[in-house]
Amino acid sequence: MIRTRFAPSPTGPLHLGGARTALFSWLHARHHGGRFILRIEDTDRQRSTTAFESTILEALQWLGLHADEGPFRQSERGERYRETMERLLAEGHAYRCYCTPGELEQMRARAIQRDEKPRYDRSCRQGSARAGNDRPHVLRFCNPLDGELCIVDQVLGELRYHNRELDDFIIARTDGSPTYNFTVVVDDMDMAVTDVIRGADHMNNTPRQVNLYQALGWETPRYAHVPLILGTDNAPLSKRRSDTDILHHRDAGYLPEALLNSLARLGWSYGDQELFTPEELIRLFRLERVQRSAARFDPEKLRHINRQHLKRSSSDKLSADLVKRLRALDLDPGAGPPLNRLVEVLRERFCTLGEMAAAAECYYRDPEHYEAAAAARFLNNSGLEHLRALQPRLTALHDWQAPALHELLSATATELRVGFGKLAQPLRVALCGSAVSPPIDITLSLLGRKSCLRRLQRALQQCDPKREEAGAP
Ligand code: GLU
Repeated sequence: MIRTRFAPSPTGPLHLGGARTALFSWLHARHHGGRFILRIEDTDRQRSTTAFESTILEALQWLGLHADEGPFRQSERGERYRETMERLLAEGHAYRCYCTPGELEQMRARAIQRDEKPRYDRSCRQGSARAGNDRPHVLRFCNPLDGELCIVDQVLGELRYHNRELDDFIIARTDGSPTYNFTVVVDDMDMAVTDVIRGADHMNNTPRQVNLYQALGWETPRYAHVPLILGTDNAPLSKRRSDTDILHHRDAGYLPEALLNSLARLGWSYGDQELFTPEELIRLFRLERVQRSAARFDPEKLRHINRQHLKRSSSDKLSADLVKRLRALDLDPGAGPPLNRLVEVLRERFCTLGEMAAAAECYYRDPEHYEAAAAARFLNNSGLEHLRALQPRLTALHDWQAPALHELLSATATELRVGFGKLAQPLRVALCGSAVSPPIDITLSLLGRKSCLRRLQRALQQCDPKREEAGAP
């Protein structure tokens, strides 16, 4: 059975790159009816925090990348690591290294001077005069001194490494804490992981880990190193940029299925198909179709894909989300148009739920001011004149549905001998404060008769000095 895992370090929030790795591991497991394991790699006590762990779990939960096993935490597996270190020591596959940071620094400097790759010179490998358990030391792995390794990567193909290029890496620090290259092997083995899918930035670690598997007499998993993700500027997407944070995308109003769709397309494709549901991804995803070269993330493309998913989502689901967003804007969702109708209108026009909520505001709150440019252009003398002509007609209309409203506006424009826009635009600014809104008849019907008449009256009052002077209401 296929068993994959996602093994984030809780040293930052879940970002796009991490989520893409999680997605590919999850898809590979789901496609093959296997199991997906979640493991928190928190041995770096200095940089790991439980707050980051919680945000990572929250982001995975929101994306729907649910684990079948875990989360396991490396911080809870110390006993198992110690036992394995003891075994490596006893079997001659690891040794204590007493070299001081100063000595290691000198070693580095000498290597650089000789134009060689700086690496540990193995001076403690055959035993050290300073040996003794109580003296500060690290544990190093006895990497084979010669020979070659061939790893068949499921994405990158055949990769060859010379053992003489690899050094005796540290498996336990001076304080006894285990390092990543060691824990990852023990964990993947104990968790019976069959396929290690991770970012190409880990490729250099893989031969070291494979040697460790061999020393322990364990079977190595299959590997798949997925390509790096670049931004539109061709620089690698940094973990630290807040605009790559998954929860930031949730808060901005992206749908989890749109994000999964976009992430899947970073390095994987299926013909020219652009839109995928999570179910389709599970059915179609194959590791062999993952490309070798770096993938490029384009936020504009994500917006486009989100828009397509918004169009396909049920309006009940979108309404429920919109309610929360309206409340966060201090608006009463019950004090506006029917939510399902509002959703139908807005989802045709916007790319995110955040934008939909912002655009919805005008249906709940009278405009506090009129945008200066829009007011200057449309609430000028002629605009106001048209609105004054329109006001009694609108007041007399009782069928407040879009078709009747449209008809009334058309008839009024014809009578005034002006184009439809010359009437619609001033009205839009009067009602919404800006010259941008869905079609005017829809805006009128969504707002309702009472609000429209009130807002129109207010605009005429506020913008027309003559009426004010005359003491008009
Ligand atoms: N903890 C590692 C990271 O966050 C992942 C290691 C792995 O997948 O082997 O980059």
